[in-house]
Amino acid sequence: MPSVRYAFGRVRLVRSSLRMRPLAVTVLASGSAGNATLFTSDRTSVLVDGGVAPRTLETALEERGLPLPDAIVVTHAHQDHVGEAPRIAKRLRIPLYVTRATAKATLLSSKLDVRTYDNREPFAIGDLELAPLPVPHDAAQVALTISDGHACAGIVTDLGEIPPGLAAHLAGCDVLLIESNHDVAMLERGPYPEFLKNRMRSARGHLSNLQTHALLRRVTKRTHTVVLMHLSRTNNREDLALETARDALPARVEVMVAPARGLLHIEACPPNEARKMRQLSLFAG
Ligand SMILES: [Zn+2]
Ligand SMILES: [Zn+2]
Repeated sequence: MPSVRYAFGRVRLVRSSLRMRPLAVTVLASGSAGNATLFTSDRTSVLVDGGVAPRTLETALEERGLPLPDAIVVTHAHQDHVGEAPRIAKRLRIPLYVTRATAKATLLSSKLDVRTYDNREPFAIGDLELAPLPVPHDAAQVALTISDGHACAGIVTDLGEIPPGLAAHLAGCDVLLIESNHDVAMLERGPYPEFLKNRMRSARGHLSNLQTHALLRRVTKRTHTVVLMHLSRTNNREDLALETARDALPARVEVMVAPARGLLHIEACPPNEARKMRQLSLFAG
C-alpha cells in the first residue's frame, strides 16, 4: 500500500540524516607548555597537535567519556605541538598526519604510520574534512578548519600576522579557536630578553591581543563561540585578552579562554541544533 511505503521511506530518511554525536571540540592543553585539541564527530575523533603525554591524554578522555583519537594531525614542528605526537601515535597505533615541511623538520621513526598532507589541500579522516591554510610563523604552520559536513570548527594558533585569505578561510566556522598570545605593553615591559621580545612580535611570531581583535572583527554570523588560545603566562592576562576580544565581537558570541591545562569542551553546532539532534536520536531509539 502506498501509505505504508511512504511511512518506511520517512523512517529511513530520519535515520540516514541522524547524527548521534554533534561535532564537539575539547581543548586539553594550550600554550607554550603544550597544545592538544580533540575534534569529535559522530564516527571520528582527531587530535590536533600532540603536546600532552599519552597517559595524560588517555586519562583525561576517559574521565570525560570521550573517545580516543583515530588520528593525530600536527600543525607545525615546534615542541609544544609535535613533542608527544610520535609517542601518542605509537601507543594508540594511530596515523600521524604532518605536512612535508614538518616531516622534514622532525625526526619521525619509520615504524610510525606517518601520512603527509599538503598545506593547501583539504583532506578527510573518517567523516571529518580538514582544510589547511598556511600562516606565517617561524616554522611552516597551518590554520585548520574541521567539519563533519554539518558543523565546522577552526583552529589557528602560532602566527605572527594575519595573512590575506585567513578571514575568508574561517568564514564557515561555528566555533573559532584563535591565538591571543600577548599584550603588547606587557611584552614591552616584561622580563623577556630583547631577542625573544622581537621574535614574539615579529611577523613570524605570535598574535597580540590587538592583532586577534582585527581578525575577530571579521567573524561571520555563523560563529557562535570564540576560544582564545595560546596565551602567554608572562606577557598576557586573561582579563585583558577577553576584554579585547569582546570589544571586537557582537554580544551574541560567547568568548572564553582555553586553560593552559585542563579540559574545555564545546559543542560546535549552534545550541538549538544540538538540542534538535538529541531529540532526533531519542526518536530513533
Ligand atoms: Zn606553540
Ligand atoms: Zn610555534
